[in-house]
Amino acid sequence: MNLVLMGLPGAGKGTQAEKIVNKYGIPHISTGDMFRAAMKEETELGLKAKSYMDKGELVPDEVTIGIVRERLSKEDCESGFLLDGFPRTVPQAEALEEILNDLNKKIDYVINIDVDQDILMERLTGRRICKNCGATYHLVFNPPAKENVCDRCGGELYQRADDNAETVQTRLEVNIKQSQPLLNFYETKGYLRNIDGQQDINKVFADVDQLLGGLK
Ligand code: AMP
Repeated sequence: MNLVLMGLPGAGKGTQAEKIVNKYGIPHISTGDMFRAAMKEETELGLKAKSYMDKGELVPDEVTIGIVRERLSKEDCESGFLLDGFPRTVPQAEALEEILNDLNKKIDYVINIDVDQDILMERLTGRRICKNCGATYHLVFNPPAKENVCDRCGGELYQRADDNAETVQTRLEVNIKQSQPLLNFYETKGYLRNIDGQQDINKVFADVDQLLGGLK
């Protein structure tokens, strides 16, 4: 089961990704998470990525494509994978075709979680994440029982540096501009499946699950 998950920031990619990997047991490959981990460890890659991420800009393709090629070549991707946050550009999508071709694989579906832009702005600026376990909350839509404390593990909640209003605006603009040609690219290839992301979280997953039920 080789999947790409798409959707603008805040569309619910992370939430649906967790549900998909839990049910289907495939690795979740998020380039954003990989960059954040590298930044935390202050590796060379992390330092390179930081300057772009802090401004809400895309990390250059050659850097991003390199880490994805390395990751997809690992053994745990044999039975499938879920790409989240990659590809973000047509050159990245073309590079992915090449990488998969080299590995004798192909994409089954590109799942696009569709949500209106004004709703995304509201969702993103209210998002809070647990420092300890990574669980996500929303100040209005999904608040923790106790302010600033994770329900799951008691960890402290924080706001991602790139979730402030100004950076969110830039991220949405960059993403909208970049994603349309990508959606067209995958539509033409016949991989694209649009899912209504404005429904209840479980209903969104039910739609995804129904789609994936036909795959191994
Ligand atoms: P995300 O967690 O997917 O929202 O990604 C956070 C940030 O990481 C983005 O705003 C970019 O700066 C960087 N990033 C993640 N994935 C990619 C990608 N495929 N290409 C370029 N930059 C990326």
